[in-house]
Amino acid sequence: MHPHLTFHVTPKLPERLEPLRQIVMNIWWSWEPEARGLFREINPELWHRVNHSPIRMLQLASQDRLVELSRDPDYLHRLDTTFRRFKTYLDRPDTYFKKRAADSPLNGPIAYFSAEFGFHESIPIYSGGLGILSGDHCKAASDLDLPFIGVTLLYRHGYFKQQINSDGWQEARELDQNFHQLPVEEVTINGKPLIIHVPMIHRNVAVKVWKMAVGRVTLYLLDTDVPENPHEDREITAQLYGGNKETRIQQEIILGMGGVRMFDALNIEPEVYHMNEGHSAFLSLERIRRRMASHNLSFRAALQVVAASNVFTTHTPVPAGNDAFSPNMMRHYFAGYCADSGISFDDFYTFGQATVHPDPDFSMTILALRTSRHANGVSALHGEVSREMWQNVWAGVPSSEVPISSVTNGVHTKTWLAPEFSRLFTKYLGDDWEDHITDTEFWGRVTNIPAEKLWSTHQHLKSRLVDFARERVRKQRKRNGETPDELRKVSKMLDRDILTIGFARRFATYKRATLLFSDEERLFKLLNHTERPVQFIFAGKAHPADDGGKAFIQKVIEFTRREGFCHRIAFIEDYDAYIGRRLYQGVDLWLNNPLRPLEASGTSGMKLPPNGGINLSVLDGWWCEAYNKKNGWAIGEEITDGDPTFQNHVDAASLYHLLESQIVPLYYTKPDGNLPLAWIQVMQESMKTVTPMYNTERMVTEYNERFYERAAKARSIFTPNDCAAAAALADWKNEIRRNWEQIRIDHVDVAVTDPLDVPVGDPVTVEARVHFGEVNPDHVSVEAYYGESDEHNIISPTIQPLERVEGPDQTGCLTYRGQIIPSDSGAFGLSVRVVPTSPHLVQAHELRRITWSH
Ligand SMILES: *Cc1c(COP(=O)(O)O)cnc(C)c1O
Repeated sequence: MHPHLTFHVTPKLPERLEPLRQIVMNIWWSWEPEARGLFREINPELWHRVNHSPIRMLQLASQDRLVELSRDPDYLHRLDTTFRRFKTYLDRPDTYFKKRAADSPLNGPIAYFSAEFGFHESIPIYSGGLGILSGDHCKAASDLDLPFIGVTLLYRHGYFKQQINSDGWQEARELDQNFHQLPVEEVTINGKPLIIHVPMIHRNVAVKVWKMAVGRVTLYLLDTDVPENPHEDREITAQLYGGNKETRIQQEIILGMGGVRMFDALNIEPEVYHMNEGHSAFLSLERIRRRMASHNLSFRAALQVVAASNVFTTHTPVPAGNDAFSPNMMRHYFAGYCADSGISFDDFYTFGQATVHPDPDFSMTILALRTSRHANGVSALHGEVSREMWQNVWAGVPSSEVPISSVTNGVHTKTWLAPEFSRLFTKYLGDDWEDHITDTEFWGRVTNIPAEKLWSTHQHLKSRLVDFARERVRKQRKRNGETPDELRKVSKMLDRDILTIGFARRFATYKRATLLFSDEERLFKLLNHTERPVQFIFAGKAHPADDGGKAFIQKVIEFTRREGFCHRIAFIEDYDAYIGRRLYQGVDLWLNNPLRPLEASGTSGMKLPPNGGINLSVLDGWWCEAYNKKNGWAIGEEITDGDPTFQNHVDAASLYHLLESQIVPLYYTKPDGNLPLAWIQVMQESMKTVTPMYNTERMVTEYNERFYERAAKARSIFTPNDCAAAAALADWKNEIRRNWEQIRIDHVDVAVTDPLDVPVGDPVTVEARVHFGEVNPDHVSVEAYYGESDEHNIISPTIQPLERVEGPDQTGCLTYRGQIIPSDSGAFGLSVRVVPTSPHLVQAHELRRITWSH
């Protein structure tokens, strides 16, 4: 008989287990394996079914089992210990920030905006690397105890679940989440749920605010699925990176502008805003609007305060990762904003465009760059690539001076570390190893871990991975209706004694997941060598709109079925943080072969070394700076902007060659018949060099000291006396811009007798005559720009201000003079340039005006 009604009966938590309820609602548990263990123990089978969600465990556990645990002294002891550690973590008095607070210019919080946050597999509001980075950033901000608040959207359907059908084609399944099954709570004010309203064209969209506790940090999540909204508005926050351009611009308005409004409603005034990728860049517009209203400022005066306290991180040189909207769409959504803000639409539109060769569309990356005085890429190489890529935003400024620096990404070590390795560190490095996570000298001690212990721990984790991969593949094939015979083959696939290489990432085509398959015969030999075989485990999702990426998945799947390959190649569907952990902790070697220089940083490879894994990677992103010739392997050449076909060819050849001639032999050489000693040395070198550098504690400390604190300081210069300094700076900039075109460098003279024979080290006098028109010469700097040169460029230039010596003459020209010293022999180039200067500029080139002698 079908029930008339169904409802869910939740268990009553026995009094003695109350601490579990507090632990559940703070995702501190996502990096504390002991805390997760308390929930797993309630019912290990259920634990897997609910994707390791502690909150679901408390909702679904049987009453009897909870009562039983509440009388189990051993369980209670562990519960109490874990709860005490949780409290100690929250109240710790000697954190980085508490020790620093007295000297730090930060008084208010840092507001960190990101479209996705990856904390744990049971909280599916992330799609890939960007989200995982935001999550790890947040966790480290909590560890360091920074005044830090995250802002994102709460997606009803999250990111899709991947299923591979029997044709090897990726299918996307939508989740439908009940937010009461996530560790989030409604934000209330005076007992009522907080709803804010975000103006959008001719209506106001209602947005509900949720919060989540991440250690000491709070994350706010915005949700438009509220009854007072019409259906289409309820759908705005339905899907992460779903829908069309229209959905995307609406999401970005809710995230950026809604986020700022939310702070207002909560009476919180962030001191610094950090945009993690351009999705949230509309926050600048809302901040400007508010500052104009509260201090009676012009758009550009308000911009000075806002930009001084904005930090922007760009994450990819790939065009699809840089959002842009058409002029019509922008007019549709922002004509009203422009009218309210007293700025013409055309003027407004330039904030999303380059100065020279502008694209017709409005770029969110450019908006973020134009409205932040602190910007960075995510590895040294990506910083360089970004300076070139966005150079046209700063017309005339050499790429080396484009104000985008870099902070190399990191990972939150404890989140990704196998508890087994954590125990090894405790035993052989000291139980305070977590306090030394960025201490390179400390990590030099990894050789204290006996080689056989390191190896056996690693092998244990590899066995677990092999079991896990088989189980997942069996499930997937069963769903696709494969015969029992086919299913039986799964238990013959993979082997823990074989060199195991992992490859898991988004199947964006530039990541070249199929590079390994470019020479099938060579691959076949590698896989099927009688004494020294190799095996591969793949995972990864393609964006639902990316058929190129899906075709790559299909190709991998095809090999997982092909005779001669199928026992050594596995694909695990629905890559998420959990599959990630199994892989990072279990494989011997991590393969990364993107088309250089398109991988801005990459972070998955950083998760391996603390777990004893090694990297085999193209010299792109973070690996370009981490590789030291002893801690892993580098694929191919350092080619930038090459022909992709040629690059594929070079990199594939190098990949096979490295495997055949170095990697495989090293792995299988066991001088004592037992341990691969030389391989273990590479493991140690990898652990020692990567762990202390490529973690989020180092990364967030850098963000704090190089950006957040500077941004807070810059802001504090502009805010006193109703932002008088900001208004003055805006007026000054307007005047300089109005008259700038009048500046001309009339004449440059170099006092050398023979330009073909200038002795190295001899000072050379440079003289320039500059016509200023109405520009006040006190407001500029006239500079010699010189150095070693090729036909087109001055390479690694020196910049030296010249001194005003004469003038103005009858024609209004002033003469400037200075001495330069050519420090090396060879072709030498010199230019003279004029740039505006003021002590109130936060960046040297923020006016984006520069005049060169030609
Ligand atoms: C670390 C991680 C990523 C990012 O890895 P990349 O190397 O940047 O591709 C993506 N997805 C998951 C689940 C991760 O854990």
